[in-house]
Amino acid sequence: MKQIGPFTIKYDRTLPGWTAVNGQSRQRFTTGAKGERDAVCFALNEAFPKVATAVEHLCQRHAEAASRAWAAAELLVVGHVLNPDLTEPDEVARVRSQRQRRWYRLLRQANGTISCDCPDFEEGGLALAGEALANQLLCKHLLAYWLACHLAWPLSKEAPAPLHPKRSHAGRFRGRAVTAVGQNNRHQLVPNHASPQYGNGQPVLPAHLTHYRSYISYTQQRPFNQEKLLSWALGR
Ligand SMILES: [Zn+2]
Repeated sequence: MKQIGPFTIKYDRTLPGWTAVNGQSRQRFTTGAKGERDAVCFALNEAFPKVATAVEHLCQRHAEAASRAWAAAELLVVGHVLNPDLTEPDEVARVRSQRQRRWYRLLRQANGTISCDCPDFEEGGLALAGEALANQLLCKHLLAYWLACHLAWPLSKEAPAPLHPKRSHAGRFRGRAVTAVGQNNRHQLVPNHASPQYGNGQPVLPAHLTHYRSYISYTQQRPFNQEKLLSWALGR
């Protein structure tokens, strides 16, 4: 079962077949992968017509892109195209996997193309002949990012997961997510737009603002002081 805008896409054994259900209506589709894809296309067309139109235009020119492009549209509208981790200079976005609890990194390469670290891309992905995407191999994650750029679709804000989960449990990294003790010795959630100030009340120097914002987006808390911030930032 999945949710696309107001539509719930689910398989109905009694029909049998795939359905797209919202408050007022239930659309029926065939069984199998085709029925599921048709139900998703229907929901995208109804709920996100601009996204569906962009995918249809791409598929008119490149029919071979269809399965990846519709999957990409789905990733986009469910909010799986995420902001990059600002501490990773070459990262342009992250895309959460549809089925697994992980995400893939889209990295800008020296030759101007973007790579993805998913198995599809690493096995060669999809190459489209001609036009702007000529030298760019594609996978559904890169297509989702391309759609986001093309439609000026806002990327989802999500605290990026650490690259090396081990770091947060070991040695100097121990406890970095709980070091932002604010006034009155209480842990505080700090929104991204909070004024740049440490937990101890000191202002943040302009040179440290990038680290400061990454810290908050990762830990959802304010660093206690400059020393804590810099030791966290250098540890990444
Ligand atoms: Zn990919």
